[in-house]
Amino acid sequence: MTLHEITSHGRPALAADLNTELQNLDLAGRLALAAKLGRAVFTTSLGIEDQVITAAIGTHRLPIEVSTLETGRLFKETVDLIAETEARFDMSIRRFFPEQDDIDAYAEKYGLNGFYDSVEARHACCHVRKLKPLAKALAGADIWITGLRRGQSGNRATTPFAEYDAERNLIKINPLADWDIETIHAHVAAEAIPVNPLHGRGYPSIGCEPCTRAIKPGEPERAGRWWWENDEKRECGLHVPDNHGAEDSSQQNVAQPVSQAISPASAVR
Ligand code: SF4
Repeated sequence: MTLHEITSHGRPALAADLNTELQNLDLAGRLALAAKLGRAVFTTSLGIEDQVITAAIGTHRLPIEVSTLETGRLFKETVDLIAETEARFDMSIRRFFPEQDDIDAYAEKYGLNGFYDSVEARHACCHVRKLKPLAKALAGADIWITGLRRGQSGNRATTPFAEYDAERNLIKINPLADWDIETIHAHVAAEAIPVNPLHGRGYPSIGCEPCTRAIKPGEPERAGRWWWENDEKRECGLHVPDNHGAEDSSQQNVAQPVSQAISPASAVR
């Protein structure tokens, strides 16, 4: 049975099974399993976690599409890293851009930098520059791979290895969910993976330039994102918080590994 033949009704159960199976695999094994399930898309922000995943995809030549959201407000260092990464791993990274009409309409209503004025205005900007391009990047995908880690913030502390995204009807796989930042840094050093130079200047988490600042010693990793907002759970909406705790508790023992339940034919899509 392929993932396409599994109805929406069956996907949550499959995600729960995957959540159990993925935890026993290394990063390459997790990604290889994800690639077997159907059309898999990895969306990278070029952050250090995402570079670890991109390197694994490139090194192992895994059939996973790598895409990024070129919001038009990225740091130059981030944009430069896209091309550097493509050259290093001999791969293409698909760029998804916002629509100019949407940007114009936003600027007319809120002002180009209106995101500083209210949470609503900020969400509206993220919707135009991130969420709509993300929908294009994920159109037709079965699997969405992300670089989410539990240690990135309290909001992500219960990130599972796999979860069903009901809004997009796909399975989201977070292969670095259990990696800590020390392991990430050690892996990057050992593999000489190119990373954004801003990480070395106090930016552990990097988004759009006007919405990201360096953090102070002792601050949480994501404290520099939308720092003017008080909501501790601030996110851009790409990763709508799910009830991760409930998903974790629904993990089941499966008689047959998911990797054997999926037709090999699905691996080539
Ligand atoms: S992070 Fe800032 S600039 Fe980027 S899309 Fe969101 S509000 Fe707009």
